[in-house]
Amino acid sequence: MIQRNPTRAVRIGRVTIGDGHPVAVQSMCATPTTDVDATLAQLHSLEQAGADIVRIAADNRRDADALIRIRGESEAVLSVDLQENYRLAEVLAPHVDKIRYNPGHLYHHERKKPWKDKVSYLVEIAEQHDCAMRVGVNAGSVDPEKASLYDREDSVTPMVESALEHADWLDSIGFTRYCVSLKDSDPAKTVAAYQAFAAARPDIPLHLGVTEAGMPPMGIEKTRIAFEQLIGCGIGDTIRVSLTLPHERKHEEIAAGRQILEDIAAGRVRTVVHFNPDRLNLISCPSCSRVENEAFIDLAQKVQERTRWAEQHALTIAVMGCRVNGPGETDDADLGLWCGPRYVNLKRRGEKVGAFTYDDILERLDAELHALVDGSANGN
Ligand code: SF4
Repeated sequence: MIQRNPTRAVRIGRVTIGDGHPVAVQSMCATPTTDVDATLAQLHSLEQAGADIVRIAADNRRDADALIRIRGESEAVLSVDLQENYRLAEVLAPHVDKIRYNPGHLYHHERKKPWKDKVSYLVEIAEQHDCAMRVGVNAGSVDPEKASLYDREDSVTPMVESALEHADWLDSIGFTRYCVSLKDSDPAKTVAAYQAFAAARPDIPLHLGVTEAGMPPMGIEKTRIAFEQLIGCGIGDTIRVSLTLPHERKHEEIAAGRQILEDIAAGRVRTVVHFNPDRLNLISCPSCSRVENEAFIDLAQKVQERTRWAEQHALTIAVMGCRVNGPGETDDADLGLWCGPRYVNLKRRGEKVGAFTYDDILERLDAELHALVDGSANGN
């Protein structure tokens, strides 16, 4: 029997997480939010698959209007992901059960305004409209002020410090109806971040996830490795398995999450679960409403096939679906791709190589991969 951390109970609509409640399984719609029919279809399929909570992104007023229409057609427990525009909270809070904000994104909007004022504003709105909140920290978009205080190689500490700082502020203003997430695409760093946060604040419910885990089966494996180490030690109150999947298969995230939870509860876990650092590591984002060309999903699959020959090499390839987060999220990869409407950008170890059409990119990626493999064989 796993001894779970003594977290606070946090109610999100009709679902409660923390304080010994069952671990809630959630997912996020990846359709453009403004495509109300497609988003509703995906929302229904996630609910049918057993999603406890579904997140939908809102970047602008058009997304917000669409989300309000979606709410009108669904009874699902909904969380809004406030991406760059935190002020949409006042429009959307009356229609959702939870507000997710990212401290890194909060930094970029209205820079002159102190972040504490922005969080206090969100709290006021959440309290007024009976919403829970999530402080969602991501390795690829940590608050730059926080990140600048630490060694560039250390991506875990700034994430943990940023989350702790926000938790302290929320508590100090009397708001405790929130959970925290600290996601990285590397399962080992994800585990380290959650463990450090949970050691400091075992009372705060945690939303677990490995970001940009990639496609099944590898994406599920990476997530499983992290979740086994965390949930097995009593850490985690709600989970999301982020997978790169075509829209009609997005609901598989829920089945994957439930299977992992079932296996852990039944003791079907490994004792040592370090993700193999000696092999090719392919990362791809789960896609969301920011994807501008759906060829991204197909591309992620083709990259997997095309790079199979390099499986025995310890290199990381990241494939990201958009131009907004793609450039930052690919910084630490040996080869990073991020997708625009017509071109795919390619970066080698942080340096831009160029932009290529969807038809040409695989050829160029293959050439760059050969050069890296040959370089490491020659000791370069
Ligand atoms: S990288 Fe872009 S498309 Fe992919 S999940 Fe993140 S924001 Fe969405």
